[in-house]
Amino acid sequence: MEIRLDGKSAIVTGGSKGLGLAIAEQYAASGADVAILARDPGTLAEAKQKIAAGAPGRKVAAISCDVSKAAAIKQAYDQVMSELGKVDIFVNNAGQSTRGPSEQLTDEQWQADFDLKLFAQVRFARLVFPQMKERRWGRIISVLNIGAKAPGPDSAPTSISRAAQLAFTKVLSQEGAPYNVLANSLHVGVIVSDQIVRRHRREGTNVSLEDFIRKAGEAVPLGRMGRAEEFANVAAFLASDAASYVTGTSINVDGGRSPIW
Ligand code: NDP
Repeated sequence: MEIRLDGKSAIVTGGSKGLGLAIAEQYAASGADVAILARDPGTLAEAKQKIAAGAPGRKVAAISCDVSKAAAIKQAYDQVMSELGKVDIFVNNAGQSTRGPSEQLTDEQWQADFDLKLFAQVRFARLVFPQMKERRWGRIISVLNIGAKAPGPDSAPTSISRAAQLAFTKVLSQEGAPYNVLANSLHVGVIVSDQIVRRHRREGTNVSLEDFIRKAGEAVPLGRMGRAEEFANVAAFLASDAASYVTGTSINVDGGRSPIW
């Protein structure tokens, strides 16, 4: 089975680094035009070059956008439409994790986490859903974490946003099914990315990055952290016609780490 996305256009939020960049690279290499959205223009420009180098002839739009802001989302969407003309695939991937003991979290921290993850998905879905339904072809992919189904201590608000996104993805799958618009979620365990490099800086004190990554991998049944390309493989499958009978489901890409399947 060859995964091809010829003729499709995709938005990947958080597409300048880590999992989002791996997904955007793979979509473009499979024939799709892609728009990557993130805040930092310098990182976006580098990512655009990297994606274009692996996918000659494909359009790559790199758009600076803070997806936690409603007005920025609308502006970015308009720019995607003017550069790519349509959106067939939407990957809601931008995010970072806010967590702590529940009694210490402020309303501002809760709201910021919901704006970045849940409301970004709600607002983008409102924009992309109508055109997908009209063409009777669409893919919505939510990048969540395994905490959405198995929240642990000190994992609020991030696991709560993820659980809400999981439920919202299910709603979209039900609303989209009559129009061949498929919606699914992917659940990350631990995958090497910039986020992990930042976590190492925060927690790693005297440990080298390599040892930090190796140690974190020991808690995973497969014995290692995942690679961004391994995650992107599943996202490419879900975006393609090969996944034409898969909707309303959630897939852990976690090396077997989650206690919930
Ligand atoms: P990275 O930190 O490596 O990349 C995050 C991407 O999101 C960057 O492109 C970043 O660009 C962008 N981003 C962050 N905040 C915003 C914002 N407000 N508006 C627009 N773009 C934003 O993360 P990963 O690739 O590791 O993670 C991808 C997704 O998977 C995230 O949602 C993350 O929470 C989730 N995840 C990852 C895990 C892992 O092990 N890697 C574990 C659990 C969940 P910029 O900073 O320039 O805006």
